[in-house]
Amino acid sequence: MSDVKVPAVEGWFTMDEANPRLVGNKCTSCGTVFFPKASIACRNPSCDGTSFEDVELSNRGRVWSYTTNHYAPPAPYVSPDPFEPYSVAAVELADEKLVVLGQVEGGADGLKVGAEVELVLSTLFTDDAGDHVVWKWKVVA
Ligand SMILES: [Zn+2]
Repeated sequence: MSDVKVPAVEGWFTMDEANPRLVGNKCTSCGTVFFPKASIACRNPSCDGTSFEDVELSNRGRVWSYTTNHYAPPAPYVSPDPFEPYSVAAVELADEKLVVLGQVEGGADGLKVGAEVELVLSTLFTDDAGDHVVWKWKVVA
């Protein structure tokens, strides 16, 4: 652990640990929300919008599907040694109804389709630059 926390991917989420939010964007023509952010052109097939504004997304949602990985992914993924199985959940955001993938904090306990989860920040790995932080989903007790 380090005193310095840096986002593992820049601009995809806020670094407010008490209330982290994913950052997507919204088409200024049709209002469709995207995560990851849309660029160049709106992905709504019936819209020709090309301008977007950043929006912070719901930090709660419900598990739409999930899986548990029992094998270490290849590099550049940084696995703990020894490898520990981890779960990945596809979560439907409460307001936007977008489905956003993320690792699950705290293992698979309580993880099931329909379970309510909240967004948390978690350290992926630490190096000389500090703690590299990503978002994870955590089952709401
Ligand atoms: Zn649009």
